[in-house]
Amino acid sequence: MLEKFDIDNNFVDADIFYTIINIFRYIFIAGGAYLFYYCLFKKKYEKNKIQINETITNSELKRELLASFQTIVVSTLFVIIFLYTPLDNYAKVYLNINDYPLWYIPVSVIIYLILQDTYFYWMHRLIHHPKLFRYVHLVHHKSNVISPFTGYTFHIFETLFETLILIVLLFIIPIHLIDILLYITIGFINVVYIHLGYEIAPKWFRHSFLFKVFISSTHHNLHHTKFKYNHGLYFRFWDRLMKTEDPHYVDVYDTIQERRFSKNYKNVGDFKD
Ligand SMILES: [Zn+2]
Ligand SMILES: [Zn+2]
Repeated sequence: MLEKFDIDNNFVDADIFYTIINIFRYIFIAGGAYLFYYCLFKKKYEKNKIQINETITNSELKRELLASFQTIVVSTLFVIIFLYTPLDNYAKVYLNINDYPLWYIPVSVIIYLILQDTYFYWMHRLIHHPKLFRYVHLVHHKSNVISPFTGYTFHIFETLFETLILIVLLFIIPIHLIDILLYITIGFINVVYIHLGYEIAPKWFRHSFLFKVFISSTHHNLHHTKFKYNHGLYFRFWDRLMKTEDPHYVDVYDTIQERRFSKNYKNVGDFKD
């Protein structure tokens, strides 16, 4: 049951709790990233920019803010409607930490992320189909340059598709309430990172095995500039297996990496491939 959460003995309605989280994570994570990279430290991080000489226009930004406001409202309502239906009683959410072994706490989050990534990859490929693209996914691809707000810029249908996976997983795989918060927080930080427009992964990431496993901001940026490659959300697995990964990805990443860590950096133009 998700009716009420006991937080320090103050019972909080699940719907109000979820709404607050949804709004605050947007303001603090997406808004904070925008303020940091696009306003306060714009010059300092210029060499981290993926499309170095491109900037999102004010009208694109306005459109993204309005669309993402709609996404917040729709995704919140979708979850609240679910919480008010009897279906809620069948969700496999547990509150007592001893219901499952402790090792299951991190493992269940990893399982949720892997399944979400798999769902997202195939759903994403489907909505790139010419018959669906215009009606479902165009809103997300409309801005010429992406920003932290692009990650929440969706058509209402896409919002429903994106939210659906969490609801479905809640019926199938047991998860502790804390893990749900962790899962949605990881998901949101990732979505802001991959739409940041800046590559901020640490230098060592490129030569660690993690580079082979996880996508990066550069990886998803290439999806927005070329459309036909890089459909993954967290992992490179499906793109590599299905041969939908941009063949220039590693070269582009290395060009940005070289620029980022060069001592003699001068803005001489965007990467070429
Ligand atoms: Zn897409
Ligand atoms: Zn995107």
